[in-house]
Amino acid sequence: MAKVYYDADADITQISGETVSVIGYGIQGRAQSLNMRDSGLSVIVGNRDDEYGSRAQSDGFKVFGIDTATRQADIIIMLIPDEIQAEIYRDQIEKNLKKGNAIVFAHGFSIRYGLIQPPDHVDCLLVAPRMPGAYVRDFFLHNSGVPAFVDVKHDATGRAWRRTLGLAKAIGATRAGAMAISFAEETELDHFSEHFIYPLIIGALTLSYEVLIENGYPPEAAVMELYGSRELGEVLIEAAKIGLYQMVEKHASPACQYGIHSYSRKLLSHNTRTQIQKIIDEIKAGTFAAELLDEQRTGYRKLKQMRMESHSGPLSAAEASLRQLIQFRDRE
Ligand code: NDP
Repeated sequence: MAKVYYDADADITQISGETVSVIGYGIQGRAQSLNMRDSGLSVIVGNRDDEYGSRAQSDGFKVFGIDTATRQADIIIMLIPDEIQAEIYRDQIEKNLKKGNAIVFAHGFSIRYGLIQPPDHVDCLLVAPRMPGAYVRDFFLHNSGVPAFVDVKHDATGRAWRRTLGLAKAIGATRAGAMAISFAEETELDHFSEHFIYPLIIGALTLSYEVLIENGYPPEAAVMELYGSRELGEVLIEAAKIGLYQMVEKHASPACQYGIHSYSRKLLSHNTRTQIQKIIDEIKAGTFAAELLDEQRTGYRKLKQMRMESHSGPLSAAEASLRQLIQFRDRE
């Protein structure tokens, strides 16, 4: 059974005298900074002087360049995109690391692939929430929390786990549960979802829409049926609460249950299992990591192209049209 830490296992006062420098004020940076400040920690932000920096300032944080924020820090949390972390670390962070500092990651990428190797006199910690920043903040404000994976790669101070759990508590993660797994496991599992589960769902929805339209179904009705009604989202939340197959039995008619069981056997074959294994092998070999670093070096050329293609596809117009037609007044 995995080891999971809860609020009672963690103590924010272990780190309350320390200055926490959050590097990056984006999706995770903003949410974690606000939660930690609300939990009583002393938080400053390291960011370039631009839109993100201004947002941190208007949220009431002292904002410095990354170099300066790191020099003032006891705990440094790396909340900038993974593919640029090594460069920023090398140029603006490494030289400022003092004995007893902690460097914290929200995803194991830079450590798992050996892109950053913090010195031995520094704690190296993982506090990796399992949802986007908006939820990290929203759950926290509703007295709940987003679960996280946690790990200590290197304990220089003898306090590394206490610091990790103090941080996990301060962002609300131990309210739900902070599960101990290794940096490598966190990185590989995270990439697996991104390389198989999400592409499969998003790709299947997009392709289904295109073929349904070719078959003459009304665009808004197709989007409504596929995911616009929110049924898919709601039943997946229910599945997380009570179990995948329990959800099907509880909510689906015999016709629906028969369809789901028989078609999941037809659609997923031995080849799918082979494909899953190939994806895991590529993640472990670092194939994707190398590709991502290349992509960043070329200014995200392929990503920009793929984004443009998906935005200009017919799906966006049908989604916008459906949003005008269907209202979820009681749930907004
Ligand atoms: P974002 O893409 O939201 O990061 C944006 C921030 O990074 C901004 O502050 C931006 O500031 C800064 N930044 C971007 N490029 C540069 C650069 N070249 N030099 C300096 N600063 C830069 O990141 P996320 O919050 O998505 O991810 C942060 C970490 O959290 C990653 O390790 C990620 O894997 C992890 N994580 C993310 C999750 C998510 O919900 N997205 C979930 C769990 C973990 P500016 O451009 O102004 O310099």
